[in-house]
Order: sequence, then C-alpha cells, then structure tokens
Amino acid sequence: MHEQIDRFNRHILLRMIGPEGQKRIEASRVFVAGLGALGSLISILLARAGVGFLRIADQDNPELHNLHRQVLYDEADLNRGLSKAQVAEERLRAANSSVEIHAVTAAVGADNVEELTEGVDVVVDALDNIRTRYFINDVVLKRGIPYVFGGAVEAAGNVMTIIPGETPCLRCLWPDSSAVSGHPTAATHGVLSSAAATVAAIEATETLKLLAGRTEDRLRGLLVMDLWHGSFHVAHVERDPQCICNGIRP
Ligand SMILES: [Zn+2]
Repeated sequence: MHEQIDRFNRHILLRMIGPEGQKRIEASRVFVAGLGALGSLISILLARAGVGFLRIADQDNPELHNLHRQVLYDEADLNRGLSKAQVAEERLRAANSSVEIHAVTAAVGADNVEELTEGVDVVVDALDNIRTRYFINDVVLKRGIPYVFGGAVEAAGNVMTIIPGETPCLRCLWPDSSAVSGHPTAATHGVLSSAAATVAAIEATETLKLLAGRTEDRLRGLLVMDLWHGSFHVAHVERDPQCICNGIRP
C-alpha cells in the first residue's frame, strides 16, 4: 500500500487526480487497439500510471521501419520471432508488474471487436486505418463505452473523445467511410515520430481524465494539430441528427 502511494506520488499530488482519482485509475480496465507508434506510448503511459487492467492487440511483429517511432521495441526484438503484443506485454510488465495485461496477437476487426471491448471502461484508438475505427465506433456506441479516437500522419494529428449518448461520434465527423478511405496514412506519406508521440500523449491524457472520474474536463471537439507549424486548435463538431449515435442515451 505504502509502496503504491510512493510510486504514484507525483500523480496523487495533482489536484486533478489526487488519491481518489488514482484509486479509480488502479481499478480501471482499458483496451488499447493497435501497438504501433500510438499504442506503444499510450500503453506504457497507462501502465506506468497504474491502470489496473490493460488489453492490447496488434497482429504484426516489430520491423526495422517501426523503430523510429514505436518506443516499445528495440533492435533486439527484430529477430525474436515475437509479435508486438508479446514484446509489449514484457515491457509493460517490466514497467509496472501490478498491471494485469491481456495481450492479443491479432488484427482488430469486425470478427473480434466485440470480444476485445468486453468489460473495459475506455477504448483507446491506436489504429492505422479508418475502416477498423468504424467497427470500434459502432460497438462502443452500442455498449456505452467511452472511446478516445486519435490519429497521426506526416506532422499532423487529430484527437477526439467520444462519450456515447453525449458527444458526436466518428460517423458524425465522417459520415461516409468511402470519402476518408483514400486519406494519407503513415505508410503512404510518412509520420513524424514526435507528432505521433504528441497525439499518443494527448490520448493517454484524455483516457486518464475519464478513468480518474474527470469526464467533465475532456477535450470538447476535434483537436487538429500540425506539430511542424506549431498549430493546435479544437474544432467544434456537431452531432449529426441522421447519425446512428443519436438514438443512444447517456
Ligand atoms: Zn454520430
């Protein structure tokens, strides 16, 4: 007990978290979807912050071109034959052995999204494609689970916190999935490692607010950032009256 108070002292000292918020964080369960640049940093920040249960999922193994931004993997991991989920599990346990980790080596998709979101308090988006985000959006709306959406490409990034029944959802933002399917991705246009890290840090912050019981402090709208030009703003997003999220109660 004393060790836990010591470990999280600098979070407990924060007036926004305090001992009560920290207790809530330690009792919480989170699913981080994807273990690339965003998922690496989000999961290590949440493990170190003391989140009680972390489910992590990714289908890939670490590759050389991941290392410039995916901070959970090292050169030595390239030839171990382990998946990102398996390596991540080791690193998260080493950072905080009290966290229960459920590591899944699989692509997040229509076939497993129900299972992966089972029993969690927050779903955090660390994916690299819009199609899977729609699956997650729809299942969290159905289940009433808060969802922190984030993405980074080139030096730009977006973050939006979605609370079913209260806020707009991804389909309010982009009603037509085919219109966004051709958008640039890290694989086609590159991504600045520090832009991905910034988006991941903001997503982890949004998650901690929700877990600590400070939902009222969440980001309101869509954060639009360009790290290279130093611009950050939060765009107002309206709930689309035609959207599926409108029938949902808080
Ligand atoms: Zn919506």
